[in-house]
Amino acid sequence: MENGNNDSLQPKIEQIEQVTDQAIENLYVDDKMRRLIIDLQRHWLTDYHTAREKILEDLTRKLHEEFRQDQEKIRADLQVQFKQELDSTRAELEDKHAKILEAESAKLSEKHKRELSAARKKQWCFNCDNEAIYHCCWNTSYCSVECQQGHWQSHRKVCRRKKTGGGSSRDAQLPQQQFPSSTQ
Ligand SMILES: [Zn+2]
Ligand SMILES: [Zn+2]
Repeated sequence: MENGNNDSLQPKIEQIEQVTDQAIENLYVDDKMRRLIIDLQRHWLTDYHTAREKILEDLTRKLHEEFRQDQEKIRADLQVQFKQELDSTRAELEDKHAKILEAESAKLSEKHKRELSAARKKQWCFNCDNEAIYHCCWNTSYCSVECQQGHWQSHRKVCRRKKTGGGSSRDAQLPQQQFPSSTQ
């Protein structure tokens, strides 16, 4: 029984050894495969991470660029808006200024016109160019009796008052009507 057992054990051990070898071989192969798979996995993971990082980097860059462009657009818009406001403010001010100037100028021109018409209403002494207060006849006035009398010798030939009035030439030697004063 023991012998038989020994006899029958022998091939079994060999078998076991063979199997073990095979198993070791298998194990070795498995191990190689495992390492290969691990390497591959690691490689994929690395690839995955690299790709992921690249995508994230690209995305970050893209977002940053978009942000920068948005900022630029906002800045440009603000500048345009600011310029428009500035222009409209300037236009308003210029308009206001022009209106003030126009009013001022109208006032001045009105004043000038009044002064001019006041000056026109005034008459000047035919004899000495002072302001006249005595009127003789058309376009002929005097500042004083002296001027009227001094001028009479040359004026008597053309005096219209003599003709219209029909009076004697002596009348002209007297002071005539006094002008209503045009100066205030
Ligand atoms: Zn005079
Ligand atoms: Zn006269």
